[in-house]
Amino acid sequence: MTTSSTGHDITPLKPERIAQLSEGFTPEEKHVILHQGTERPGCGVFLDNKQKGVYTCRLCNLPLFDSGAKFESGTGWPSFFQPYDKQHIRELVDDAHGMRRVEIRCTRCDAHLGHVFDDGPAPTSLRYCLNSVSMKFVPATTKTP
Ligand SMILES: [Zn+2]
Repeated sequence: MTTSSTGHDITPLKPERIAQLSEGFTPEEKHVILHQGTERPGCGVFLDNKQKGVYTCRLCNLPLFDSGAKFESGTGWPSFFQPYDKQHIRELVDDAHGMRRVEIRCTRCDAHLGHVFDDGPAPTSLRYCLNSVSMKFVPATTKTP
């Protein structure tokens, strides 16, 4: 078992398990998550979400981004300046469209998440541009003192 610095199991899932997890997905969800598609800008359910919590992988629930790292990028896709744990996100260089883009995927299940660009805000100068479809949102529970 491989464990990330934040204590999550990041052992890659077997293809059979990934197929099982994606069984209930719509064709659009499968297109984005399993075949590196991109949802239309401005339509994602998490674009204007301002609640506190953690965004997890839609497929395998691995925490990907904390709401505290979300910012308004004006691109039409939910954007973050840093991941929950760098080890939870795998980067792949994509030269397919005549320009260099860095694709981001979930380390554990290989789900396509979006792309990362280097024009983000301080302190990281990174902009993780996400498909809402690739994520789930887990609201922070209000702790009683
Ligand atoms: Zn995943």
